[in-house]
Amino acid sequence: MRTPLVMGNWKLYGTKDSITALIKGIKEAANTTTNVDVVVCPPAIFIDHVANNINGSRIELGAQDISTNVSGAFTGETSPLMAKEFGAKYSLVGHSECRQHHNDTNAVVAAKFVCAQANGLIPVLCIGETPEERETDKTFSVLEAQLKAVIDVAGIEAFENAVIAYEPIWAIGTGKVATSEQAQEVHAHIRAWLKPQNPSVAQKVQILYGGSVKANNAIELFAQKDIDGGLVGGAALIVEEFIGIIEAAK
Ligand code: PEP
Repeated sequence: MRTPLVMGNWKLYGTKDSITALIKGIKEAANTTTNVDVVVCPPAIFIDHVANNINGSRIELGAQDISTNVSGAFTGETSPLMAKEFGAKYSLVGHSECRQHHNDTNAVVAAKFVCAQANGLIPVLCIGETPEERETDKTFSVLEAQLKAVIDVAGIEAFENAVIAYEPIWAIGTGKVATSEQAQEVHAHIRAWLKPQNPSVAQKVQILYGGSVKANNAIELFAQKDIDGGLVGGAALIVEEFIGIIEAAK
């Protein structure tokens, strides 16, 4: 009942030529795998180029990060309204690399979530624990705090039109994928934690897994009851891998 969603996060990679080739390569799989929603999140400077290349296909566009502001003296930032004008439907918020490198606190992430939604984008809230937090049994409390920071500001109903991506930091870009049992345990916990706040949201919200997803581990991950697809970094830049991941989600 939840539509599977596969999102490619291209991070700071690509040239006009490589992106053109990548989209050409994944277009057919996205068009024929009609029960899976497919989204690509290019570097902001390529949003218009990607919008032109995906035109007429089932591929949707997402921003990797957005500002807490729509316009103003905020050098270097991407406005959600501008991203939307160029065809973006989604925006990641709170990716661990933004939390780490740009010092995005839970409060900043909540403000980005609200600004994205207020300007017509579907926020994809990324949450995840560090290796130390997992080793010291803090995974659930860290994730709950990350979710609560957004719910306190946006309200639980905001998740009627948002996506959650569970991305354990120790699995991002490391090749160290969570086992399907580890990932399912966390996804089930997130849904169970949301349920008393709003059972319908808990049931409907898509929860993606991210962290070294590849074509060869996606089938088992996506077969888990509470895993509704993936947020994919490295493998999203390789045509055959990304096609395999899209097909694993159907
Ligand atoms: C990501 O960038 O969100 C990610 C999960 O990266 P990777 O798939 O490379 O681990």
